[in-house]
Amino acid sequence: MALRLWNTLTRRKEAFEPIDSANVRMYACGPTVYDLAHIGNARPVIVFDVLFRLLRVLYGADHVTYVRNITDIEDKIITRAKERGISIRDLTEKTAAQFHADIAELGVLEPTVEPRATDNVAGMIDLIGRLIERDHAYAADGHVLFHVPSMPEYGALGRRSLEDMQAGARVEVAPYKRDAMDFVLWKPSNSDEPGWDSPWGYGRPGWHIECSAMSLRYLGETFDIHAGGIDLVFPHHENELAQSCCALDVPRMANYWLHNGFLQVEGQKMSKSLGNFTTINDLLAEAPGEALRLTMLTTHYRQPINWTAEGVREARRALESWRQHVGDHMASEAPAEVVEALKDDLNTPRAIAALHEFRREAARGDNEAAGKLKAGAGLLGLLQVPQADWDAWRPRDHAVDESQVASLIEARNAARAAKDWGEADRIRDELTALGIVLKDGPEGTTWDLAG
Ligand code: AMP
Ligand code: ZN
Repeated sequence: MALRLWNTLTRRKEAFEPIDSANVRMYACGPTVYDLAHIGNARPVIVFDVLFRLLRVLYGADHVTYVRNITDIEDKIITRAKERGISIRDLTEKTAAQFHADIAELGVLEPTVEPRATDNVAGMIDLIGRLIERDHAYAADGHVLFHVPSMPEYGALGRRSLEDMQAGARVEVAPYKRDAMDFVLWKPSNSDEPGWDSPWGYGRPGWHIECSAMSLRYLGETFDIHAGGIDLVFPHHENELAQSCCALDVPRMANYWLHNGFLQVEGQKMSKSLGNFTTINDLLAEAPGEALRLTMLTTHYRQPINWTAEGVREARRALESWRQHVGDHMASEAPAEVVEALKDDLNTPRAIAALHEFRREAARGDNEAAGKLKAGAGLLGLLQVPQADWDAWRPRDHAVDESQVASLIEARNAARAAKDWGEADRIRDELTALGIVLKDGPEGTTWDLAG
């Protein structure tokens, strides 16, 4: 059977036909590096890593180019760096390094290229220039905007009604917009904000144009697969598609658009206010990365997933039992049962069921099944950690939770304002115990890690 993928663009499961089977090209929107990645962010990273591994098996490891970017220009980054009193570079470097460490523990392969937005601003300026030249964009008041009515097909990916998109856009219409739906390609920066010189003045790109420029540079005008979480369909992917097609005069930016469903924690939307906001790093302190990875793959990538502590425990038990049976058997080629399951729109639950079956056969002394278990798990990125490391795994201390630090600082400021010095000192001690040093200055309180 050919590889079949559900395509958001056509709303159908389609046979996958690469533009060039000697170079299959995929792009996944990567993290915005202002804070620790949460377990929801891990979902696209893991499921599209499985797709990357599958494509490497089907087309050859040297015939797949996977680009996953790092968004290191974004207003949330500017705000967070200010709050923490550190430089933007410092914040994005540290956050990106932590992201890499976290996902490596989840068994995620490095993409072929991992471009950073800050290294690609020239490409963005070039694309924006082309859009203006082609009358798809206009400069106004230091901004450059994409003019949505200039593209009759706008909205084809998200398939939202024009009324819906307009209603969403009307919430806050800047006076310089010709149409409420027009979106920002470039915006002005103050002298204390990151910026680049451009034909439209000192400023910085909008988020969407970053991905259009980075995918063009590494994958060309039209590539095979564009992936991300379902929340990115509109407006992010719709806008990427509009920019790329209009600037380059091509009918398609990518042929297949893949989107993973959302992750909830214990049946609830993850949010800081509900106190169930879980970072990858938190979970890695409590369970081995492979157990988290298997938990993620037990649900089909397009379904919503309910993340539970029980699910992680179950996955860990499953891995434990698989490990007892793979022994020293040499891994054979990835077994057909697993490959075929994945070729059916990445049906990981079916692939995992096949692994359980191999384990049962291996337990009855079938050495070939033990080899298939090892190789099939390998295709899913599982059973890769050496047995000695798996055995040595222990729970560890949690990394610093920045939002917890921020709310403690806020509580301490409130106590100080109320002249409750005892409480303020108590909170400072609590922060010290977490390894945080406070710096009270004229701009307010900032913090750093001790040592
Ligand atoms: P962001 O850093 O917010 O741009 O998100 C990075 C990636 O994580 C995007 O592909 C999002 O669609 C995805 N994502 C964010 N939250 C969740 C969630 N709760 N469940 C699944 N995917 C998510
Ligand atoms: Zn993107």
